[in-house]
Amino acid sequence: MAAARLVEGLVARGLGPQTTVLAEEQHAPYNRILLSAVLEGTHRPGALALREKQWYADRGVDLRLNSLVVDIHRDTKTVELADRTTVPYDAVVLATGAIPTLPPIRGVVRMDGSLDPRVQAFRSLDDCARLLDTLHDHPRSAVIVGGGLLGLQVARALAVRGIETEIVEGRDHLLSSQVDASAGKVLKRSMAKLGTQVYLGARATRLTDEGLKLDNGYTLETDLVVLTAGGRPRANLARRAELTVNRGIVVDDQLRSVDDPDVYAIGDCAEHDGNVTGFVSPAWEQAGVLADVLAGDEAAYQGHRVVARLRATDLDVCVLGSPEDEAGEVVEIANPIKGTHRKLVVRDGRIVAGALVGDLSRVGLITQAFDRQTVLGEHEAGQLLLPEPSKSPRPELPDDAEVCACAGVSAGRIRACRSLEDVRETTRATTGCGGCAPTVRQLLATRPSGSQLSATQLSLEGTT
Ligand SMILES: Cc1cc2nc3c(=O)[nH]c(=O)nc-3n(C[C@H](O)[C@H](O)[C@H](O)COP(=O)(O)OP(=O)(O)OC[C@H]3O[C@@H](n4cnc5c(N)ncnc54)[C@H](O)[C@@H]3O)c2cc1C
Repeated sequence: MAAARLVEGLVARGLGPQTTVLAEEQHAPYNRILLSAVLEGTHRPGALALREKQWYADRGVDLRLNSLVVDIHRDTKTVELADRTTVPYDAVVLATGAIPTLPPIRGVVRMDGSLDPRVQAFRSLDDCARLLDTLHDHPRSAVIVGGGLLGLQVARALAVRGIETEIVEGRDHLLSSQVDASAGKVLKRSMAKLGTQVYLGARATRLTDEGLKLDNGYTLETDLVVLTAGGRPRANLARRAELTVNRGIVVDDQLRSVDDPDVYAIGDCAEHDGNVTGFVSPAWEQAGVLADVLAGDEAAYQGHRVVARLRATDLDVCVLGSPEDEAGEVVEIANPIKGTHRKLVVRDGRIVAGALVGDLSRVGLITQAFDRQTVLGEHEAGQLLLPEPSKSPRPELPDDAEVCACAGVSAGRIRACRSLEDVRETTRATTGCGGCAPTVRQLLATRPSGSQLSATQLSLEGTT
């Protein structure tokens, strides 16, 4: 996803014909966030492409699919592919993403090194296709190992398809890297409504003929185990090329490797200022900065405050910064009966982090205050967390309020567009997690008169 965004930036700067994309997968870059929608059956796999193959060709970009890079030869400035061919470069950008973590469960990997046929991963379109194939065998139940974002998405998608699902999570609550225990409880309740059983503080230790054994003594009888226990930056190429890798490939403010001025890294594989990310919004922001840098303009990535919208149908979650790590005063409102939990961490009157679960009706204003580091009055943080009174008109978002966190698009830029298609094409808003789509539609519908959209334009929901 980072590479696709970078290419858009390079094309906009007239650098398309100098750009080659070497991609291991057989599909043109696609929206990984919507994989669970394919699993759920609401989106076709083809609808996930961020740009069609022809789009690259029309702009002179050499997109080579099924092209796994195995080595970077920094001395000769070439990269080597699995078929031993080489490609020369002036600058090489690593946007290799993340690799799923294989939890230490005995029996998952067989003696010959292959995975037990009951075990599936979930990170790519091919993983998704394999998982869908196994559903044709009508599994009785599925166990999802890992109760983070991916685990919730997979559990939800399989439950909607009528498969009995169970989640095993080693920590004491769901989505523990992003939200606190009370919000985790709300999520657990939402999963229970779908019929999903959640085992917390439990580790899967062994896969046997009887099923998946947990360290709490339970054995979960299952014929499908989906591994969603997190991932780590895919940095093997960088290591082989003797570039500095801590958790990710270490880069400076220009996203340049600290060891080689002609090697760059962006997205999930990169580590900037000690941080690796794992969300689309920082990946796309880095891609934007790097497009400027490669075009010879002054630009710097400063580790923008991350706003991550986590997509899973009926599980609305937005995380601002790192609510579990930031120090400050906590303002929170929870309604476990309704399935909502909203929390802001406030320091010196400013929102420094937050987590919203189940109700994102005020997300625009909250994100704006977080982004701008607005100093709030003593009642304001609490008021921002109150649900929007249904009868009062929505406060109008100012032109500079950020609406799409993934692509960094403001309300003013949306208002300047003629249609949803125009928004997607010119700003790329709604093409990431899709969480901004309702606000975008509302902004388009309430543009000043004379610029109202037709009913057909408003019903164009695209793939989000
Ligand atoms: C199921 C799922 C749901 C997600 N949901 C959300 C969400 O709701 N919100 C959010 O913000 N983020 C979400 N994410 C995370 C988001 O998708 C990533 O942050 C984003 O894709 C990062 O982009 P990237 O380009 O760094 O990596 P990727 O999109 O993973 O792309 C990396 C690409 O590099 C290729 N590659 C790797 N090594 C090589 C090589 N040696 N040669 C050639 N090609 C190579 C890989 O095959 C892959 O296609 C989700 C991720 C997954 C898997």
